[in-house]
Amino acid sequence: MGKISLIKEDITKVHADAIVNAANSALIGGGGVDGAIHRAAGPGLLRECKRIGGCPTGEARITGGYNLPAKFVIHTVGPVCSRRAGEADKEDALLAGCYRNSLALAYENGVRTIAFPSISTGAYRFPVERASRIAVMEIKEFLASRPDMQEVIIVCYGDEVFSAYKEALK
Ligand code: ADP
Repeated sequence: MGKISLIKEDITKVHADAIVNAANSALIGGGGVDGAIHRAAGPGLLRECKRIGGCPTGEARITGGYNLPAKFVIHTVGPVCSRRAGEADKEDALLAGCYRNSLALAYENGVRTIAFPSISTGAYRFPVERASRIAVMEIKEFLASRPDMQEVIIVCYGDEVFSAYKEALK
């Protein structure tokens, strides 16, 4: 079975078949990891994203990697965490969908190594403990179902995020 790796790194520097972008639903670039990926990839990425035209929350779209070391970028739109109790199940399901749909789309395109940032835990305010449990569960399930998938790298920006994912992997 493929492995899960945990690293502290800037995702734009990661050598994998694909990296995942925590995009917004308009796919027009933004702050955080989205801004970093667009800066490193160059303007061709934004042009391709604009042609796609958008992506609903929980779904994923694929583009080229342009000037990035990765061949592809998978753009997925995480849910915004409202911190309202009645919304939690829906938000969790949408975040799980981000991982599942990104992995499935990548796999269909021949990707066997892929790097994820911690989706929704920046500007979209998801508590990182909650998000990390969902991410790890979905990644493990995917790896179990696709024996030839080689590696899923979780890229952590900062010590708090790294600790949360390390705990979730136990
Ligand atoms: P979201 O809107 O989905 O919350 P953010 O980009 O605001 O997305 O944050 C998601 C996570 O990505 C946060 O943990 C943030 O620290 C991290 N992040 C920001 N820049 C980078 C980068 N260059 N590489 C990897 N992770 C990053």
